[in-house]
Amino acid sequence: MNITVQEQLERLALEVEEEIQGISRQIEKTAYANHKKVLDQYTRAGVSDFHLKGSTGYGYNDASRDKLEELYAGIFRTEAALVRGQIISGTHAIALCLFGILRPGDELLAVQGEPYDTLVEMIGIRGSAPGSLRELGVTYRQVDLLPDGNIDYNGIRLALNERTKIVYIQKSRGYSLGPSMSVKEMARLIEFIRKYRRDVTVFVDNCYGEFVEQQEPTEVGADLMAGSLIKNPGGGLAPSGGYVVGRNDLVSLAASRWTAPGVGAEIGPSPDYIRLLYQGLFMAPRCVAEALHGAVFTARFFERLGYQTIPAYDEPRTDIIQAIVLGSESKIIKFCRGIQAASPVDSTAHPEPWDMPGYENRVIMAAGTFVQGASIELSADAPIREPYVLYMQGGLSRYYTRLAAVNAALMLEQP
Ligand SMILES: *Cc1c(COP(=O)(O)O)cnc(C)c1O
Repeated sequence: MNITVQEQLERLALEVEEEIQGISRQIEKTAYANHKKVLDQYTRAGVSDFHLKGSTGYGYNDASRDKLEELYAGIFRTEAALVRGQIISGTHAIALCLFGILRPGDELLAVQGEPYDTLVEMIGIRGSAPGSLRELGVTYRQVDLLPDGNIDYNGIRLALNERTKIVYIQKSRGYSLGPSMSVKEMARLIEFIRKYRRDVTVFVDNCYGEFVEQQEPTEVGADLMAGSLIKNPGGGLAPSGGYVVGRNDLVSLAASRWTAPGVGAEIGPSPDYIRLLYQGLFMAPRCVAEALHGAVFTARFFERLGYQTIPAYDEPRTDIIQAIVLGSESKIIKFCRGIQAASPVDSTAHPEPWDMPGYENRVIMAAGTFVQGASIELSADAPIREPYVLYMQGGLSRYYTRLAAVNAALMLEQP
């Protein structure tokens, strides 16, 4: 009896669903713990219907905005939070922190090799965008990961010096195959750094990391942390925004950069969509769990089809990114087109590699999302460079991710 390729892939998908049951249960345990953490803060803070509305103009004494920031500070266990719809992206939130704190003569130290692509120009690691940290006289130092992918503790000890002002740690792997960092390992790293420089500011880029584990970096010693609301903490509902959480004085410095020194966080109206920032944060643990279920399915499914996946389906996860080593440009393009064609929005779009601002190589992106560029919704992207690795993340429902992954596999089978 002849069965079609599509039928074969559907059968494989059913088998994979069975294989991943045990891991799915673990994901649900974490989701439950994080739901509890989030709900506790909503009830403690006394969120009311009255907070779910926007305001205008300067936004003086804006209770909606203040209450939302109270929730973020509570959930991330920090003294303060700056949470604004008008922070445009994760990069913007990170820029507020770096430019808010660093002064001429200070040094920024990255301890896991090169940071995420969009930070390269901002820092001035290569090339230097006008207004980069480098142009302002802030120096940059980097400790690469060891060849086995582990943290080079000795290298960090040697790199720390009296000018080191910020140590930059990234929770997620970004566009690299290096291991992403668990909160447990981050705790060890931060403790190590403090042994040599007690007063250095430990900053964590938490993009894609929120609610994947039961603890957040700010619970294990990070001074300041930033992320995007169109990733994990927006719960798939936030239409725009970013957050900064951490120590009072540091969040104030970031806020001064966001508006102006002297006014800081005191102004800034709540957008009319602020209800979605509240509702999205509340839904975020569920949303992150769906993304994780989808990532685990996709990893196992493509492993069964003979591809290397990072992380492997049964490895511990610290972010929502799933990498698949496809091995050629044409496979990357096919995969992305398969994802795009199975999207609820713009399913007829035809992704092509392009020179995206802020990235060094051509990049191809598939995203049929309700919120433009929201990578908590299912998206697949890849820099066009060796060894041709595809990165997939998000997915508001695990079933949608499964449908899209099967479609991508089907596309790979086409000539
Ligand atoms: C997404 C991301 C950023 C920032 O990206 P934006 O597209 O500007 O939101 C920074 N660092 C990491 C690790 C990321 O995943």
